[in-house]
Amino acid sequence: MKATAGQALHPGLYGCLAFGAGPYNPIPVRVLLVEDDRALSRAVRDGLTAQGMAVDPVGSVRDARAMLPTNPYDCIVLDLGLPDEDGLGLLRELRERGDEIPVLVLTARGTVEDRVGGLNAGADDYLLKPFAFPELTARIRALIRRGGSAVPTVLQVADLELDPGRFRVTRAGVAISLTAKEFAILECLMTHAGQLVTRTMLLDQCWDASYEGLSNLVDVHVGRVRRKLEVTGGPPLLHTVRGAGFVLDARPR
Ligand code: CA
Repeated sequence: MKATAGQALHPGLYGCLAFGAGPYNPIPVRVLLVEDDRALSRAVRDGLTAQGMAVDPVGSVRDARAMLPTNPYDCIVLDLGLPDEDGLGLLRELRERGDEIPVLVLTARGTVEDRVGGLNAGADDYLLKPFAFPELTARIRALIRRGGSAVPTVLQVADLELDPGRFRVTRAGVAISLTAKEFAILECLMTHAGQLVTRTMLLDQCWDASYEGLSNLVDVHVGRVRRKLEVTGGPPLLHTVRGAGFVLDARPR
């Protein structure tokens, strides 16, 4: 049975997206979405992005192969019925060369043999279309946790604290409200406290591939983070290193 674009979406998917529901993902997560159904791809991308994840959508195995070596993905969401090749072929290829990136297979194929085939090929999880959106995000999070991506405990630099598990930032005990993007940026800077974080590092960690053409995008977002950190009146923590990037450091510069 072949699912059409309309059938592939669970009614709850639209409801969830419409309300922008669900907690932000506390870990900066970058997902490669391999799905040729454009409507579904767009809905999944928008939904995951609203959760603070960076998502690169592609519609073929060939495009997935092109994206994989150049981007640090935490997870692949993989459709099987793709226009050029079977998604299982890509999965086998990854596993044969020892790549253990978590892969969630997303497909309308529902027979027992299909499931067994997918898991034998090295899938970490399997979600049948139609699916409920919260289930997809919950499974992606679970996969990334199991995949060993570092889920840090509360990060602290001077009086600044960031709790990834609760999506919460405080300075001197005062709560600071950040967007999902700003949170991801600050988490990246705090993880590398005292070290140079380049614009490229931030783009890789916190953005998907569609940022091109906006050269000052990182600076704009980092500027907002800096202003929010200084609202409490404490000394500056986030410093610009001219021509290189940024450093989050309690020591004056
Ligand atoms: Ca398909």
